Amino acid sequence: MSVDLKGQCLCGAVQVTASVDNPRLRACHCDMCRRHTSGAFFSLETVAGSITVTGPAQSYKSSDWAERGFCGTCGSTLWYGMQHDGSRNLAAGLFENAGGGILKVEFFADKCPQGYALSGDQKKMTTTETIALFAPQDGDAK
Ligand SMILES: [Zn+2]
Repeated sequence: MSVDLKGQCLCGAVQVTASVDNPRLRACHCDMCRRHTSGAFFSLETVAGSITVTGPAQSYKSSDWAERGFCGTCGSTLWYGMQHDGSRNLAAGLFENAGGGILKVEFFADKCPQGYALSGDQKKMTTTETIALFAPQDGDAK
């Protein structure tokens, strides 16, 4: 059974809601996520189509396929999104206690800075493994 969560940015101008089933967290260590968040980007897995966002949210086109949401007032990181279908991975930090999520996977784990590491027994995927997971399959529209 899913649970409805409410979250907000630092200043509160942006409000988000989403439903979660078994709240799972994902951490991404890629260079773009690190620059956008000053660390790993922790996102919360949400039920498809359940996300609502209100307030002065803006987005930055960070690559040919992705965009990054942020609050136009306080600059809080809001989401990592896909341009082709509008799907979004909400920042876990918007929610109290990261939505109660458990860390399940680290993407680009080999790009994690030498100065810190995340403890736990979550799956750690290398750059090669991460790209293989998300790369379009033959026949898919890019
Ligand atoms: Zn804000």
